[in-house]
Amino acid sequence: MLQKSKTAFFGILPLVLSVLSLTSAGAAPSGGHSLKKAEELSSVDEAAAISPLKLSTFRPKQGEVIELTVLAKELALEPGSEPPLIEFLGNKYKLFPFDTEDGPAYRALLTVPVVQKVGSVVVSVGALSTRVIVMDAHYPVQRLTLPPSKNNFNMAKGEEEAVDKAKATVSPVRHWTKNFNAPSKARLSAGFGLRRIVNGKLLPDYFHSGLDYAGFQGSPIVACAPGVVVLASTGVFKLHGNTVAIDHGQGVVSFYIHMQKINVKLGQKVDAGQLIGAVGQTGRANGPHLHFSIYCNNVASNPRQWYLKAF
Ligand SMILES: [Zn+2]
Repeated sequence: MLQKSKTAFFGILPLVLSVLSLTSAGAAPSGGHSLKKAEELSSVDEAAAISPLKLSTFRPKQGEVIELTVLAKELALEPGSEPPLIEFLGNKYKLFPFDTEDGPAYRALLTVPVVQKVGSVVVSVGALSTRVIVMDAHYPVQRLTLPPSKNNFNMAKGEEEAVDKAKATVSPVRHWTKNFNAPSKARLSAGFGLRRIVNGKLLPDYFHSGLDYAGFQGSPIVACAPGVVVLASTGVFKLHGNTVAIDHGQGVVSFYIHMQKINVKLGQKVDAGQLIGAVGQTGRANGPHLHFSIYCNNVASNPRQWYLKAF
């Protein structure tokens, strides 16, 4: 699947951490540079230590998911009222209730977009806020050759709308309880976050929004986690080809693209590891493969971290 960035993309230029640029910005006394850098970093750590907003990381990489948790009492809510939305990088995220040893709490999964430039950014929930430092993920560039007939992003009527609608699914129940599994046993042929040079030309605002598995035509594709099928499209999409999307709850949706065939129906509940279809090369594909993405609150996240960590 394709992710066309709606924001300016500075991927080619070497980006400098704002913490580093701060160190050279002023009248630091001689020998003060490394000291100021250390102060800046430790001030983030100090802010993290006292923040009532608990984050799984305060130094996320581009494409990384951050789990935010906050105790209900910290939000000082009126009885019966809903918690405020989280504000992060221009997006708003809904908080979902859960129980902790310290009492009722809320949580949400935020995603740093691949195209986010590195540096310090604010996370806020109502009157509470903290900040994180976005780190460079050093995503590489891949060269691809496509026949002229496939070297375009043309979509069928309604294709973009249907895919965007599935990406934006936010339902209240969290269906998963453990790490996600890979949807295919095939070898990986392209990683997440790659930028691409197609037929010699760099695609300026493009990055690879998922993982490609080089499975042979007809090899099995399984669900990466439990959920509900929110998209099952066959024979229509020009770009994505036959596509399945599964809603795992609380803003997490997985996508399976370029499928040969689909074994599930819209609205069907699926388990982790359940067969959902077969690898193909429908849509804009230069050979049989599965393109697999995990969108988290409408932002493409690196699927690998879902295999490694149980959010
Ligand atoms: Zn792909």
